[in-house]
Amino acid sequence: MRVRVITSCTGEKSLSSPEQLTLADFRLGAPHVQAREAVLRELLTPAEDLYSGLQHVRLMRGVRAAREASSIEVDLQILSAGYGLVVANQKLAPYEATFIGMGRKGIDAWAQALGIPSAIRVALAEPCDLCLVLLGKDYLRACALDEQVQLGGPTLFLCGKDAAQRLPKIPYLYPVVLANPEATTFSCGLVGLKGEVAARVLENLAKHPELLGAYVGKPQATVSNPGLPTPPAKASTKPGTRKVARVNSDVDRVIELPDSWRNKPHREKLRYFIPEWDDLVDPDYDFERDEHSGGTGDWSNQVYAHQMYPEPNYDGILISKVVAEKSKKKKERINAMGVHRFLRVPRRFPIMGDCGAFGYINQDVPPYSTDEILDYYTRLDFDLGVSVDHLIVAATESKKRERYELTIQNAEDFLREHTARALPWTPVGAVQGWDPKSYADAAGKYVKMGYTYLGLGGLVRSTTRDILDIVFRVREKVPPHVSIHLFGIARVDAMKAFADAGVQSVDSASYLRQAWMRLHQSYASMDGPYAALRIPEAGKSFRAKHMRDHPELSDARILTMEQAALRIVRAYGQRKASLDTALETLLDYDRFVTKERISMEPAYRRTLEDRPWEQCPCAICQNHGIEVAIFRGNNRNRRRGFHNTWVFYRLLQKMLAGESVPFVKQQPATNQLEIALL
Ligand SMILES: [Zn+2]
Repeated sequence: MRVRVITSCTGEKSLSSPEQLTLADFRLGAPHVQAREAVLRELLTPAEDLYSGLQHVRLMRGVRAAREASSIEVDLQILSAGYGLVVANQKLAPYEATFIGMGRKGIDAWAQALGIPSAIRVALAEPCDLCLVLLGKDYLRACALDEQVQLGGPTLFLCGKDAAQRLPKIPYLYPVVLANPEATTFSCGLVGLKGEVAARVLENLAKHPELLGAYVGKPQATVSNPGLPTPPAKASTKPGTRKVARVNSDVDRVIELPDSWRNKPHREKLRYFIPEWDDLVDPDYDFERDEHSGGTGDWSNQVYAHQMYPEPNYDGILISKVVAEKSKKKKERINAMGVHRFLRVPRRFPIMGDCGAFGYINQDVPPYSTDEILDYYTRLDFDLGVSVDHLIVAATESKKRERYELTIQNAEDFLREHTARALPWTPVGAVQGWDPKSYADAAGKYVKMGYTYLGLGGLVRSTTRDILDIVFRVREKVPPHVSIHLFGIARVDAMKAFADAGVQSVDSASYLRQAWMRLHQSYASMDGPYAALRIPEAGKSFRAKHMRDHPELSDARILTMEQAALRIVRAYGQRKASLDTALETLLDYDRFVTKERISMEPAYRRTLEDRPWEQCPCAICQNHGIEVAIFRGNNRNRRRGFHNTWVFYRLLQKMLAGESVPFVKQQPATNQLEIALL
């Protein structure tokens, strides 16, 4: 491992002489300095031994420790206000010169005369695994760093806050701010603090070279922990080692429904339900550190989309029994609280329940009895409950019939029992079929049974044209007072057509889920979709899945690329980095994200150029800006999903009001996973 350290000269020297060189000597030029050095020959000392200031002495402790470790090669360079940038073993005469107090113009001119800006560029560009820069603000000024600087490896600038803000926003450059709190942490005065922190990094790397990645990935670990930084956590599934979620008492609150939401005119035509699938986020997520405020995500410390906006972006919620009872804990909670309280919505907010037929698509018969389901809807206090249906999968003709007849029979039992028990919620008859006629025939029977609400299932793979054909045929058999719901369908371009054809409600999470399932449409906007910027978390799923195809990449290199991409994208968000730099750094990492070498360049360029997160007035984009457009982890991806739903809900209302919206073709779902998620 090659570690470069660039430090500044200090006023205190280990030896002095009444004859020592002064700034005036250096200003007279090299021949004069050489003549003076000849006189002081006896006193010439390697640069690294010449200085005795606190920063230098402390730093050298780490340098020696690193040199003793066989795994580290230290390249130490010193920025001298008399000699310019020198290597550690260059012999120097005792001298007295500093940039401090020279004034800005004085520094700039003298630094140029010493060739410092070009020398530092050469030093920084040389390849290394880690570079530590220990320069105060006047010495940094002498370097005249700008966006053109190239870094040969991840480079930590240990410096004060003001100096950190002046550093160029370039890939692989990480400012590590040192101030009074760090002085306390390291029990070290500010004067020697840079040296102390650098020494600890070097000592630690000498003992644990594998920690390099931790320094690169979490530069702040360098200052928050005087001992070893914590090695990157390894996911563990062993019982007892799972993270425990801390409860956040602020999250468990029922939302209010403002009049603006209650009086939305589109609802007269069509209502949009969102399927519930544990889509919650940490309201206090730390995007900078990628840390969950509750340790790990749980219902008790996270919020739903409707808790993050002034009003819900849907007219109701659909929750399937298989999802409601996904875990023991969730089942207990939802049973104890009832479905409204659990979802943190007021009692008058509509909630529909179904069984989640996709969850038992491969079983011969549904795992639920009608009695059990009636009890469940009643106990949890649903507003609408769907009869027990069975998806008709492409199978033999007899199997098809069997599932069709079973679904109709269940619907009949369901309504009879519902009536007999005089249950307070609205029964919805689930209809399955395989063509317009089969759906229409079943629907006709349901009307005779007495249903006033029908739900058509099994259509997520169908084209919009086919769905419309089915709806038209069903409507012929169904009087106007009977409502029709389409399960799993919300194609924005077709919503008006569905409403006109006689559909009263739909549900779909496709807008939410396209945030992480459809790369080129992962960020929705009122003017059409964009590709979110993929920067997956190094060391997590990403590395495990795709990095083993790249043995040439060390963990440190991956972390470096990841952190550089994050930093540059954020800097771009703040208009502190150019589009080309941001794009290049992003693509540097992106090309390793998947096996397929599909260039994301045009898509990312468009996203970066248009800055859609700045146009979006939704609360999430307003709060988090470009973070919402970064494809990374649940807390960003789900927030983007919530934003997408916000956009969809507005497009839907425009459509239903007869306004034109950008034509975005929503393709039918093509794979089992997507169907399960719709
Ligand atoms: Zn938004």
